[in-house]
Amino acid sequence: MAGLFLEDIHKHFGSVVAVQNVDLRIPHGRFVCFLGPSGCGKTTLLRLIAGLERPTRGRVLLEEADITDQPAHQRNFGMVFQSLALFPHLSVGDNIAYSLRIRKADASVRQRRVDALLELVRLPGYAGRHISQLSGGQRQRVAIARALAIEPRLFLLDEPLSALDAKLREDMQLEMRMLQQRLGVTTILVTHDQREAMTMSDLIVVMGTDNQVHQMGTPLEIYRNPADTFVANFIGTSNLLKGICSGSRQVTISGKTLGIEAMPENVKEGSAITISVRPEDISVVAGAPEGANHLPGRVTFVRDVGSSVEIYLDCNGFQIISQSTPKSRPAVRQGDVATAVLPPAACVVLTA
Ligand code: ATP
Repeated sequence: MAGLFLEDIHKHFGSVVAVQNVDLRIPHGRFVCFLGPSGCGKTTLLRLIAGLERPTRGRVLLEEADITDQPAHQRNFGMVFQSLALFPHLSVGDNIAYSLRIRKADASVRQRRVDALLELVRLPGYAGRHISQLSGGQRQRVAIARALAIEPRLFLLDEPLSALDAKLREDMQLEMRMLQQRLGVTTILVTHDQREAMTMSDLIVVMGTDNQVHQMGTPLEIYRNPADTFVANFIGTSNLLKGICSGSRQVTISGKTLGIEAMPENVKEGSAITISVRPEDISVVAGAPEGANHLPGRVTFVRDVGSSVEIYLDCNGFQIISQSTPKSRPAVRQGDVATAVLPPAACVVLTA
């Protein structure tokens, strides 16, 4: 099957475990983000793919060929790092053409390629400029053009946008995503910014503080169906409520039975579980009306940020956060008795 395979990858630096138990298949042509907190092993995994590190155990396969021992310079991968590492003494054009020159491409081929790439990254006519005469975003685009000059089989990016200010960063995210879609090159981006990962990726690989992969899926799959409490907490905000399984489609939370839509197959009655419910799926009604999946409580805080309103409830010792739009804002205030309503379909049962 086409794509990149990471098979049982482990990487240790002395006694430090940088990455462990990684089995991944990255299909051809996708935009994939490695997402996780600092130190979870994202960069190490990217460097293993690039050939800049050798795994302690496991194999890297590309289009079914084992490339574990292939040196980085023979892999034909394009790379952009946070530092960009452009050559300051060379012009924009010479930076982009650098690897083509090393590969002894002739001058007219180099020129055509540089012009096409500058067009692609929206910097036509910039070939003669010096790197020092460019803005941060323009340097970024030159680094991308340089990495693409060799028509890479894989495009690897390690937090290339983190030094840019927020607005430029968002513009570049969009540009990079559109560029990747046009070229169809398999791209892996390392980031610890979940918003960046959610907006750019076809697939997200979530790594945890145990230096393992917790989940790989589309942004929506990961948001709607987190594999465990770590993913539910790391991607967006989630209400995590501990309870027990009390039937094939019900759980008991703090003495209150809630209906759910699906119970994982391995969960038996009486087992400890956690349910994850996104704040925007929870509605709040004033007072304490009885009803299915109603959790009565008291409003402890109302946070109004203009575009959305968050209501914090204390429901018998559990904190529940609900989020609504200003239009659907519940008529409750701090200190009021109110009830959280948790739709069965929004309650995702987690076992870890
Ligand atoms: P960040 O987001 O902070 O860049 P990361 O998720 O990319 O973090 P890595 O840089 O891959 O994490 O590091 C994973 C672990 O391996 C960390 O504990 C780090 O200190 C350790 N590590 C990485 N490279 C080396 C090295 N060359 N020698 C020793 N330890 C290393």
